[in-house]
Amino acid sequence: MPNIQVLDPHVADLIAAGEVVERPASVAKELMENAIDAGASTVTVEISHGGLTFLRVTDDGRGIPAAELKTAFLRHATSKLRTEYDLEAIGTLGFRGEALAAIAAVSRIEVLTRTAEADLGASLALEGGVPGGIEEAGCPLGTTMVVRDLFFNTPARLKFMKKDAAEGAAVFAVVQRVALSHPEVSVKFIRDGKQELLTPGDGQLKSAVYAVLGRELALGFREVRSAGEDMSVEGFASMPACCRASRSWQFFFVNGRQVKSPLMTAALEEAYKNQKMVGKFPGCVLHLQTKLNAVDVNVHPAKTEVKFGTERTVFSAVYHAVLSALEGDPSHPRAVLRNTEIPNIRKQDTVTPNQIRMSAPASPFMGEVARRAGGGGSSPPSVRLTPDSSPTRGEPKPSIPTVVRVHDSTYTPPRPTERPVGAAALGRPPASAPSLENGPAKAPAPTGFSEIPWRLAGEVLNTYIIVERGETVYLIDKHAAHERMNFDRMRGADYDPMSQALLTPAVCRLSPDQREVLLAHRALLEEFGFEVDELGADLAVRRAPFDVDAGDIPAALEELAVRLLTAGSADPAAARDELLHTMACKAAIKGGWHSAPQELEQVAAAVMSGQVKYCPHGRPVAITLTKKELEKQFKRA
Ligand code: ADP
Ligand code: MG
Repeated sequence: MPNIQVLDPHVADLIAAGEVVERPASVAKELMENAIDAGASTVTVEISHGGLTFLRVTDDGRGIPAAELKTAFLRHATSKLRTEYDLEAIGTLGFRGEALAAIAAVSRIEVLTRTAEADLGASLALEGGVPGGIEEAGCPLGTTMVVRDLFFNTPARLKFMKKDAAEGAAVFAVVQRVALSHPEVSVKFIRDGKQELLTPGDGQLKSAVYAVLGRELALGFREVRSAGEDMSVEGFASMPACCRASRSWQFFFVNGRQVKSPLMTAALEEAYKNQKMVGKFPGCVLHLQTKLNAVDVNVHPAKTEVKFGTERTVFSAVYHAVLSALEGDPSHPRAVLRNTEIPNIRKQDTVTPNQIRMSAPASPFMGEVARRAGGGGSSPPSVRLTPDSSPTRGEPKPSIPTVVRVHDSTYTPPRPTERPVGAAALGRPPASAPSLENGPAKAPAPTGFSEIPWRLAGEVLNTYIIVERGETVYLIDKHAAHERMNFDRMRGADYDPMSQALLTPAVCRLSPDQREVLLAHRALLEEFGFEVDELGADLAVRRAPFDVDAGDIPAALEELAVRLLTAGSADPAAARDELLHTMACKAAIKGGWHSAPQELEQVAAAVMSGQVKYCPHGRPVAITLTKKELEKQFKRA
């Protein structure tokens, strides 16, 4: 016989807590939202051990009256909602009256708080939701919540926690989003004693974006500003050339609330249709303001999802706002070289010429760079210590590379008699190419089919190499072929990435989880020539492989991180494979860019020898066209 009973309140609390408090990051989010609802102008979040043992949120908001302190920790206790009608137009971040009860149920809490009316503050300690007594305590205006030993009484949940670094990264991500959602609040984040974020809280979204996302990303942003009758969209969105390897840089806010919104993502990306590279994603920080009753925020316990009254209006508002921002200026910024005029912000944070030339002309953040640097100072261009490092590396692209990057140790070039053309035939003297000469010819001499002489006829669209052999014309995708060559070379046991020290470390701003996954795979990165260090919230790259351009380092690292995160990096062999794929691609000559004649020739030789057939993704590297086919097309046959 079933014996139905109402659950003990304690058990009910634990169940409810499971919905609201998933991990330390959810605690940080709820407590920060309470601080903002309390009108705080500064909020500080401190954590130890990823927030699992210690998480403190301090604010200077209006505080909680001593008489109401215990009530605040009861379920469904809130000061933000009175009647069912209030639910239709919620103007605060909180409204469910659940967070404090839920957090208290699964941790040990100490709270210290004072309102403006009280001379003395009040303190209260709770353990597993059970409160002690209220005591008087001297304290500044506002509230401090200390949450210790999260999930100490729910071992099942504790078991699911990731490593401290990963939980800490998730907390940091939450803090960043809150900072971007309320630029009028100065947000500070301290992890294990180290400050990783401080936003000025000057009310300017621009300042918050700059502090949270860093200079490199900010410089790639275009300002978005559009206001309709019932809706406005403001913020920033990437210039097409500055799109990134992941969606980690898309931040959407609705009436000051951070939201995940597939609708807004779709609208944003639609605006970039045909403008951005495949596999790249625009970043954005977009604030949508609308009437409170036009959105239902009461659809998710963690309050990160919203339902819009009219989805089409929202889509169109976001789409048009972004589109008009992109159309406001030429979408491909003019090439500008500013090696010496860009002032330094921090000593380590050097602008590389690559970053500037991509994004300098149209970014609303250029003024920010100057202002923050006090308008003075200058930084040297980032210089790689490569054997033939020369100033031309900083020139606007497309430029003729000074380094020939096709390594010739795996592939046997055709015999001299079979190489009717090459650098000389293209009318240029062969450039010095150290990497070509270094490689010992290890591969067996080509036989059979590959012995038929071939001729490099040229290159079209800066992408396809044309080769003639017998009565067949080959069109070779130079990037795909080179990627394969790199892939095979890097897979080899004797692979040496030729790691180069950077004179000034490249500073990369990554999302917290990306940064964390790279740090967790430091040893593997070193195998591929990258030496990275923590630098505040950034990563400093001190060494990088010879064949990755200095300006490509941040993008390469982000791509590596994305691959590690999506592929699940727990299996070391799989992680290595992911790195291999990215590095093979990054080190390859790029389609659409100029390549030195020797590079083309080496790639052609590798393909014509029959050793390179497919790129690492399985796509063909060459297609053919026979004389017969041509004759048929021209109706000669
Ligand atoms: P909600 O935010 O949905 O109202 P919570 O459980 O998060 O529910 O908080 C309960 C109540 O405690 C709030 O309504 C608010 O009145 C009070 N409170 C919580 N945190 C703070 C804070 N940092 N400053 C002032 N009041 C707070
Ligand atoms: Mg709340």
